[in-house]
Amino acid sequence: MTNMTRDFFIGLSNNRFLNNQAKKWGFSLGADKFVAGTSVESVLQEVKKLNELGISCTLDNLGEFVTDKTEALQARDKIISLLQSIHEEDADCHLSVKLTQLGLDIEKDFCIENMKAILQTASAYNIFVNIDMEDYSHYEQTLEVLRVLLQDYDNVGTVIQTYLYRAEDDLEALKDVRIRLVKGAYKESEEVAYPNKQAIDENFLKLAKQRLLGNAFTSIGTHDHHIINELKAFAEENNIDDAKYEFQMLYGFRNDLQNKLAQEGYNFCTYIPFGSDWFGYFMRRLAERPQNVNLVLKDKFYDEDNRLKKGPVMAGGAVISALALWRVKANKTKKNN
Ligand SMILES: Cc1cc2nc3c(=O)[nH]c(=O)nc-3n(C[C@H](O)[C@H](O)[C@H](O)COP(=O)(O)OP(=O)(O)OC[C@H]3O[C@@H](n4cnc5c(N)ncnc54)[C@H](O)[C@@H]3O)c2cc1C
Repeated sequence: MTNMTRDFFIGLSNNRFLNNQAKKWGFSLGADKFVAGTSVESVLQEVKKLNELGISCTLDNLGEFVTDKTEALQARDKIISLLQSIHEEDADCHLSVKLTQLGLDIEKDFCIENMKAILQTASAYNIFVNIDMEDYSHYEQTLEVLRVLLQDYDNVGTVIQTYLYRAEDDLEALKDVRIRLVKGAYKESEEVAYPNKQAIDENFLKLAKQRLLGNAFTSIGTHDHHIINELKAFAEENNIDDAKYEFQMLYGFRNDLQNKLAQEGYNFCTYIPFGSDWFGYFMRRLAERPQNVNLVLKDKFYDEDNRLKKGPVMAGGAVISALALWRVKANKTKKNN
């Protein structure tokens, strides 16, 4: 995908107006491919199904960019009640949270208090809570909040993005903390992040190997089978204890590979987002991979003869045009090849 198209979707993901509008649209645009419903009941049903296949889950009650205290407190309470439901259902499942949903943009101490309330309940139920890593403007603050929380809780960790030059140093500082390693989903400046994919992939492999040789638990968050295969071989050659790591993928992506890894006996965890605040998450998934755009378009907007379906589409003209344009471009490229 061209950088322009990627930037376009990342731009949309950050658009507060569209994010708010999307809550009113309800589920549309094909978001249900990657988001498991809007209710706790629906998501826990998915968790149960995956648990039966030997797959554990991490749940993300979608939400970000909250600038209103009441909304942040509502998100906190919803997450606490979700923890109760996970406990009551005895689901094999932990949580992923975003600090901007819990008030990081309002006041750091307020966000810390909200996280403490969540971790208090989570530790009573022995549930781990992972702090997703957002864009670089929130990076330092996220690590600061984590450091404060680690003084009182050991059931919390975060995500390190291997596109950042500083990832290795941060991992060294967090060598005793449970971490999810990912490539990174936001548009960052070359001053802080590798601009090319090869460098990001190489850094991922290097840092994942360092983590596997270390002591703390690591979630390897990628859909990249080249990386997964190399790390499987590395783990075997170095007799890495299975209990020290898991593979993680996003809900709706590479289901065959998810099942295969679980069947092969690897610890596997599916990251399941749910809730009405789906727009930013969904746009970032479209930005990552042209095929995701095609997948959604095919399902939602095109009939079997590859013609645009008639009827109302509740998604905002800009988004649809971009999706359709992308499809035309992708088809042209295919023909040229
Ligand atoms: C569980 C999880 C949690 C995440 N949490 C965060 C977070 O907190 N913060 C953050 O910034 N980012 C997060 N991300 C997103 C991450 O940073 C990447 O943007 C995203 O995972 C894309 O990179 P990738 O390594 O999966 O594969 P890519 O680099 O997109 O793809 C590499 C190769 O893998 C193969 N491939 C990838 N996807 C598919 C597919 N669907 N079907 C077939 N082949 C495929 C292709 O061969 C492709 O060329 C998370 C990702 C995961 C999986």
